[in-house]
Order: sequence, then structure tokens, then C-alpha cells
Amino acid sequence: MAIRVAVNGFGTIGKRVADAVARQPDMTLLGVTKTRPSFEARRAVEKGYPLFLAGEGSSSEFEAAGLPVAGRLDDLLRQVDVVVDCAPDKVGKENAKIYRALGLKAIFQGGEKADVAEASFNALGNFDAARGKRTLRVVSCNTTGIARAASVLRPRWGVDDWQVTLVRRASDPAETKRGPINGIMPTFQLPSHHGPDVRTIFPDLPIATTAVVVPTTLMHVHANHVRLRRPPGGTAEVLAAFRATPRFHLFAGWERVEGTPQVMEYARDRGIGFNDMMENVLWEDGVRLEGAELHFFQAIHQESIVVPENVDAIRALADPAATAAGSVETTDRALGLRRA
Ligand code: NAD
Repeated sequence: MAIRVAVNGFGTIGKRVADAVARQPDMTLLGVTKTRPSFEARRAVEKGYPLFLAGEGSSSEFEAAGLPVAGRLDDLLRQVDVVVDCAPDKVGKENAKIYRALGLKAIFQGGEKADVAEASFNALGNFDAARGKRTLRVVSCNTTGIARAASVLRPRWGVDDWQVTLVRRASDPAETKRGPINGIMPTFQLPSHHGPDVRTIFPDLPIATTAVVVPTTLMHVHANHVRLRRPPGGTAEVLAAFRATPRFHLFAGWERVEGTPQVMEYARDRGIGFNDMMENVLWEDGVRLEGAELHFFQAIHQESIVVPENVDAIRALADPAATAAGSVETTDRALGLRRA
């Protein structure tokens, strides 16, 4: 029987997760929620997703906008096996009380603190440990990117030390209230919270992170410096490992992808999701091994990288027969991330 899923919160992450769930062969999307009418609520209706009211939402506002409402959040939650909470930062913690009262399995996002759920989750990193839990938190976009890279490097060569500088986008493209619009803003939490967040997946990873925020909306970029315990044979061996791992996309030098603008132009050409780049993006020319010291850049599309992880988290919670490799393959095939 298909896993019945609700998506609570239909913004940047929620609308992508809803589409991704609707595409899975073993899942049914029973509805999404909005607090107010908006173009996104309209799109939910146009896509045929039953629309429910969350928070303080009033049905008369939706009726006035000509948007049919199927009920309130509670009505939706009573029909499903799993809810994916995609509400804004910190609202998930409040919503958790509703899910707990109903005894419902729930997935939260990286804007919540780790203690919102029984475990933090990354599909390549700790699927087996997450299996059978009742609540999971899919870690943030940056943490997801680092955790995926860790699941390539750590088992193969071991990691003695990992320093990351995160160059963070200022806002998502549709956000107009955040900045800076001109400036480079160091984050004075030293080291930044991202390292400890990665350790919610890999508790003993010797990683330290620092971050700056820059005026761009497209993607984050991580500059990584890793000291490996058992040095690989050369840069080619490292590239081959990244290339062989799902959810990594490598650009060759001849593709002339100079930076994040061309990465996102490729995503628009390719047309997956909302013209998304759900993989970790590496440049082959941006990976260099010198002895045991590995340097590499990776770009992270903040709006979409966590989408496949949310789908896998649903299986980890609700499908006792699911395996990490099987779930990743099913998810990625349904999303179009894997060819034939
Ligand atoms: P968003 O603001 O784009 O969307 C949140 C949606 O939730 C909005 O539609 C809002 O109307 C709705 N909402 C408000 N109150 C609600 C309530 N009480 N119940 C249900 N829905 C409610 O936010 P987002 O960027 O999609 O972020 C959602 C979560 O995902 C956050 O935890 C965030 O940290 C995390 N996240 C965001 C990004 C990103 O770059 N945008 C990346 C990774 C993780």
C-alpha cells in the first residue's frame, strides 16, 4: 500500500517536496496546507493538490479568492501515515505538539533545532540508523551538502581534519526582505553552527566551519580543505568516487561552467523540479589532491538539495523494507536525476 503523505507548509521547500512525493511510485500526496491565499496556494489548486488550512488561516479568505479548501490541518493529518513539516524556522517545533498529540510520524526541516526529532537525517549518511524512528529532521541545505561529501570521503580514506568556509547566499530568489544587497558579512559565530550540525549525522567527524554571507540568491559555495587519513592515489581517484555516487553532479572543464550562474543556467536547461539542482555540484577543475590534502569546491542549491532527502526520510519512517540504496535509486529515478 502506498505511503500516505501530508505536506504542512507550502513555501520554497514544501512545494518542492509535495511535487517530489507526488512523483514517487510508492507514495500518495493527500494534501498540502497554506495559511493564506497566495500564488502558491493557487498553484497547489491548479496542480490538483487538496488544500487545507494551517495556523490561523480562515476559509472565507480562500473562498473570496476562489480557492477551494478541503478542510483544516487536523482533517488532513487524520488521513496520513507521515507529515512533512515545511513551515518556517521554529514553527515546526510548535507543530510538533500537534503531530505528537495525534501519534503521527513526522519529518522536520533544518530550520529547527536537532532536538525537534528523534534523529537528524541524511540519506547517504545515516539511513539505517534513522529507519523505524517516528520523527526525523532533514538537516539544512549546507549540512546536507557536507554530509553527502562526508559519506564519500570518510569510508574510503578516513578524515583527520576538515575545514570548510561556507560562502552563503543572502536570500532565496523570491525573498525581498533579506540582505545584504552590497557587502560581505562574516558570521561571528566561530566556528559556525554547521560543523556541529554535520556531527548530528557523523558524531566523530573532525570538522570545523566558518561562514560569510554574500549578495547572491542562486546558490551557496563551500571551499573545503580536508586532510585524509589514507591518501588516495591521486585527484582522478577522488573524482571517480564523487562521480560514482548518487546526488553528485560534476562539471568538466570543457563545459565552461565558470560559477553558480552557469550551474543554474544548466538547471534551467535541464528542467528538473522547479529548474532545480538537487545534487552537490562539483567542478572537476575545482578538485585537487596534494599528498593527503584534498581541496575542493562544491555548490549547493539551497532551495532544492533537501528535497530528495525528505522523500527518503518518508521511507525510513514508514517503509520497514526500505534500504538506503533502494530508496535513493527510487527517489532519484522518479525525480529524473538518474537516466535509464
Ligand atoms: P518559506 O517561508 O518559503 O515557506 C514556509 C511556508 O510555511 C509558507 O508558505 C508559510 O506560509 C507556511 N506557514 C507559515 N506558518 C505556518 C504554520 N503554522 N503551519 C504550516 N505552514 C505555515 O520557508 P522555506 O524556505 O520553505 O523553509 C521551510 C523550512 O525549510 C525551514 O525550516 C528552513 O530552515 C528549511 N530550509 C530552507 C531552505 C531554503 O533555502 N529555503 C533550505 C533548506 C532548509
